[in-house]
Amino acid sequence: MINQKMTELGKVRSVIREIFEYGNKRRSEIGAENVLDFSLGNPSIPAPEKVSEIMARLIKDTDPVKLHGYTSAQGDPTVRKAISDSITDRFGASSSPDLIYMTCGAAASLTITLNALVNTGDEVIALAPFFPEYRVFAEKAGANFKVVKCRESDFQIDFAALEAAINKNTKAIIVNSPNNPTGVVLSEETVIKLSELLNKKQAEFGTSIYIICDEPYRELAYGVDVPYIPNFYDNTIVCYSFSKSLSLPGERIGYIFVSPKTDIAADIYAAVCGAGRALGYVCAPSLLQYTVKECIGLTGDVEAYKKNRDALYNALVEYGYECAKPDGAFYLFMKSPESDAAAFCERAKKYELLLVPSDSFGYEGYVRISYCVSYSQIEKSLPAFKALMEEYK
Ligand code: PLP
Repeated sequence: MINQKMTELGKVRSVIREIFEYGNKRRSEIGAENVLDFSLGNPSIPAPEKVSEIMARLIKDTDPVKLHGYTSAQGDPTVRKAISDSITDRFGASSSPDLIYMTCGAAASLTITLNALVNTGDEVIALAPFFPEYRVFAEKAGANFKVVKCRESDFQIDFAALEAAINKNTKAIIVNSPNNPTGVVLSEETVIKLSELLNKKQAEFGTSIYIICDEPYRELAYGVDVPYIPNFYDNTIVCYSFSKSLSLPGERIGYIFVSPKTDIAADIYAAVCGAGRALGYVCAPSLLQYTVKECIGLTGDVEAYKKNRDALYNALVEYGYECAKPDGAFYLFMKSPESDAAAFCERAKKYELLLVPSDSFGYEGYVRISYCVSYSQIEKSLPAFKALMEEYK
């Protein structure tokens, strides 16, 4: 018998993929321009021109044997140095190339980190709503996955609930800010409180509790500061990706940064290298490593997402929807006017609006709207959202 858990995982399509496939069907039936698809988190703005220029130059000027050859398992040393320097320059955090591990995006960063930290039976906490793959990654690493819901009023952390959930088996808590699916950025006040709580709990249980900081949306913030968690809490490991900041999700490039302030940084980094090896995630794509080395900190046109956010959020609130105001990422979390969000999404299909019900994010009664779409799609969708709300009045 083959692995049943993996067979099930492979057979069941995620809700988001289901909706996207439905969208493909509708696109072929009525034309792509008539389908108001808000299901996928695929960046809608192109990668900055500089990215193609760097790639073209690298291909033209670099010895192909080097350019396309294996790098060190943990990534090219000059690339890791550039990333480490940029962490220190941009965030004032101490860093070292020997604590950077290059990966194939945030998904790989997360699975490697979870496998590096978790022993079977440890608990990993996710703050709901959360990126659904966290459960898959954590459980595969042998963790018991525990969900703590954020406050509904502003989607910041519910500290009473979090404190109640932490125990001597808690190994890590995954934090994602700006957040998918809410777009909410954790405030500095929240991050300080989180740090205080975790320090208190570490002392109480005599254990180490790590923050796994999932940051693919760090640069996609609209005029608000996104606190850099290693500056607030010592036991932090950052899982970064260039998928969203540089609009390169198909190229699969990111990194792990083990903060030197973690209690056993060298051992954690060794475990990261070990997990990368055990999972077959050595030597991230070399052309992409050399490319990001030259454009760390660069972003696409974030203003385009902000323009979409403003138009959509203002209109939805005017029509009577309740929404969490997103300060970043390119998602909007909207309360379903009926308690069954899946039923609401079905009804939305009448208007060719494709929305994702929130249940798979661990938080019922909402929908996620991915507004990484063209501005004309936003404009076109507004009458549809309005008419949809009229049905509930
Ligand atoms: N974490 C979050 C919160 C995400 O939204 C995503 C992708 O949408 C990922 C991780 C995975 O990112 P990557 O494509 O870099 O693997």
